[in-house]
Amino acid sequence: MPATLKSPRKKTWQIAGRLSHFKKVFPDDAACLSLLATHKWKTGYVCSKCGGTNYCKGKSPMSRRCTKCKTEESATAHTLFHRCKIPLVKAFEIAFMVCNMDDISSYEMSRQLSLRHMTCYGFRKKVKACINGEKRDPVFESMVLEVNAKVNKRVKLESKKLKVDKPTRLAHA
Ligand SMILES: [Zn+2]
Repeated sequence: MPATLKSPRKKTWQIAGRLSHFKKVFPDDAACLSLLATHKWKTGYVCSKCGGTNYCKGKSPMSRRCTKCKTEESATAHTLFHRCKIPLVKAFEIAFMVCNMDDISSYEMSRQLSLRHMTCYGFRKKVKACINGEKRDPVFESMVLEVNAKVNKRVKLESKKLKVDKPTRLAHA
């Protein structure tokens, strides 16, 4: 019995379950960008080039443009997600897995996210460096807690729903 509990398939299932909750909270790039922007500029906007504090909306979604020097800065600039070659939502999924599933391999990630193994390996390394404090990213550190809180809330909500649904289904059987 314990052998089946520890089987790779069971583990894959558990990971898929947690990931599905995450995907409901962060379904697309827009949701991820919005969270990044909130945390990046939570203490106010400061232009990274000239130090100006006045901005208007930039051309790309959630970006900001300095009204003084006209430099546009994306929500991902100077964060862990800067110049990410994969969709932001996929990068978020990798980060979530690294933060919450300690022993997950990059092969398992590659299976779960339908991404190339080397892509998962490379980004996982970057996330790990952040977690270990080798490379600081205050935006990432700030948003991790909110991400987990949001996903946990979702898990609780869904498990409550399941408890309510079960008796009715049994009654019909
Ligand atoms: Zn500026």
